[in-house]
Amino acid sequence: MAPTAFASARPLTARELVAAPVRYPRPSVLARPLQLGGARAREGAQALGLLTVGDLLLHLPRDRREARTVAQLTPGESATVVVEVRSISSRSVRRRGMRPLVEAVVADETGPMRATFFNQPWLVRQYPAGTRLVLHGRLKARNRFAVQTHAPTGEAVAAEAGEARAAGAAAPEAPAPAAVAHYPATEGLSSTQILALVRRHAGAIAEVVDPLPSRLRVAERLPGRPSALSAAHFPLGEAQVEASRRRLAFDELLLAQLALRRRRHRRDRARRAPVLDRPPELTARWLSELLPFALTADQRRALAAIDHDLARARPMQRLLMGEVGSGKTVVALYALLRAVEHGYQGALMAPTETLAEQHFATLQALLPGEPLALGLLTGSTPAGRAADLRSRLADGQLALVVGTHALIEPGVGFARLGVAVVDEQHRFGVRQRAALDEKGAGGAVPHVLHMTATPIPRTLALAGYGDLDFTLLRERPRGRQPIRTFVCSTAAERARAYERMREEVRSGRQGYVVCPLVQESEALQARAATAEFERLRRGELAGLRVELLHGQLRPAAKQRAMAAFSSGEADVLVATSVIEVGIDVPNASVMLVEDAERYGISQLHQLRGRIGRGSHPSLCLLFGPKESARLRALAAHSDGFKLAEIDLALRGEGELIGVRQHGLAATRVAELPRDAELLERAAHHARAIVAADPELEAPEHALLAVALLEAYGAEALAPIRA
Ligand code: ADP
Ligand code: MG
Repeated sequence: MAPTAFASARPLTARELVAAPVRYPRPSVLARPLQLGGARAREGAQALGLLTVGDLLLHLPRDRREARTVAQLTPGESATVVVEVRSISSRSVRRRGMRPLVEAVVADETGPMRATFFNQPWLVRQYPAGTRLVLHGRLKARNRFAVQTHAPTGEAVAAEAGEARAAGAAAPEAPAPAAVAHYPATEGLSSTQILALVRRHAGAIAEVVDPLPSRLRVAERLPGRPSALSAAHFPLGEAQVEASRRRLAFDELLLAQLALRRRRHRRDRARRAPVLDRPPELTARWLSELLPFALTADQRRALAAIDHDLARARPMQRLLMGEVGSGKTVVALYALLRAVEHGYQGALMAPTETLAEQHFATLQALLPGEPLALGLLTGSTPAGRAADLRSRLADGQLALVVGTHALIEPGVGFARLGVAVVDEQHRFGVRQRAALDEKGAGGAVPHVLHMTATPIPRTLALAGYGDLDFTLLRERPRGRQPIRTFVCSTAAERARAYERMREEVRSGRQGYVVCPLVQESEALQARAATAEFERLRRGELAGLRVELLHGQLRPAAKQRAMAAFSSGEADVLVATSVIEVGIDVPNASVMLVEDAERYGISQLHQLRGRIGRGSHPSLCLLFGPKESARLRALAAHSDGFKLAEIDLALRGEGELIGVRQHGLAATRVAELPRDAELLERAAHHARAIVAADPELEAPEHALLAVALLEAYGAEALAPIRA
């Protein structure tokens, strides 16, 4: 099955590919659904995302496990062996309810044993004497091996491999494996079964086309894609394993970056946004006279970046990242007011009604005495009011609107939408953002400012939001007090911690004791918190006014505890991680966290954000091992972005979360932060390719266009020049 369409006079251009899907040569074998025997195996494959032969070939082994020799097997233990069949026969089973058995004498160089296969009488014909097998199972008593899963080794598929070689792929050399590829598996589909499937479909590797322009492949010293795939499954050495993995990861990253870059380019080139370049008047007055505080340096930088974006006919595509309380709203309002003073409208869209209402209230508060028409439109706006708002948006009377998805519904039209702000933008999909573009004035698109409170490490941001410009608000607005954080490990340090708590209370402050996270059960967690509460009340914190708060309390009891702490009637709040959200007591200046290493970095950072909110320097004491890298990170850094980067480096990510969040497919092979450097290179090449050949029309980019189409659909290949 040769890719015949490419043998024509010239390769199809990207546009032709989209326009003439019939002529587009689907890589037949790769797109073919995987055929699997049992229902359990089918479910297993589904769970692993293995739907097609192509999926299977991209399902790479995680590591390679030492196989045992027959002599090394110990009774009762699960193990994998590589053996040769000496003889094989089925044993007829008379007794009812007994499963049909196949029994084989198998051997390696250390000796023979008997292997039993259950329920698969056809194996007698499938595995004749001389077949080499990978068996996984358990040695029962007396040299009898109960086989759980099995696969022929490379030698058994020599014919298949030969075909693959004839068809031009680097075929597996299939030496007897000293180690057995170990695949990520699941219940219903074991690693050994996956190996067998990969063996069966090894011939399809020959059908894999290499999408990379050879110039790029040479420059990056990458192996060809078919040989990379082959070597990933049937490697001849460790170096080859990593080189092939990198090649496959590079392809994924390059395609994702190409999709993002083209999306960006399309919005840049095809659609115009209003040029908002007049000197600020309304906004300048607002900043200097009406705003009750001076902007931080980070906020000023953000405004400068926004001014620069808005003054161009290209639509702004900026992501503003800043933790809760970093002052994003002022920046958003500035962008909206810039639209208003140019006679355009501004819209702020939030993912929930509560958030929209909060924004509406904040905007009203930040615009004292301004005669600006400001509206709130959500799903629960009464019909009459909503109709009125819609008509005032449509005729341009309403300058600013805050709302939810209700803002992008078909019935909503703007007279002159100039700037849109999307809060918690990852909670909106690509389609919803596109709907926002459609609300632009007279064929133009609005400038868009995206906002998020989640600190995203740089590499993840590049992977997920490569089509956006970034602005960070790292610096907290004035008034925030520094928090010193220490790890307490010894009994003496613990005693000193309670003493510090008492000292803070003596000088009029309050404090939190956070109890351990008990993942399995809220009830257990509540019980642990209650016990700790009782213990501290009688022990280290005797004489202080202590309250208890956990998720299992009745609402009234919760309210009571929170009210007592908020009003200062209680000195100490012993709580589970429920205090992560919703409590704001500026007078609290000390926090003790029990078993802190059970919490993740970001969770501890969130917890710690409950103190340092008033006019007092604060103290966070983490009970846990000094050598914990996570706790050390917390003690050393207060910047959420820095911590997010450390967190990513420590945990690693199986896949590129950001990519999925932004609406692109998850990756199979690439991993961050491991592939961070590869990602930078892929981003660099994607930028260069899209700059030189945005429509991917050059012959050398034709196969890349096919790969992009396959990975991300026709949308990713949509023409940039309309
Ligand atoms: P975010 O939306 O990033 O969570 P907000 O914009 O709601 O943060 O700001 C948090 C609080 O800080 C608000 O009360 C806001 O008025 C205040 N604030 C914002 N910028 C400053 C500043 N430069 N100086 C002092 N207070 C500020
Ligand atoms: Mg906010």
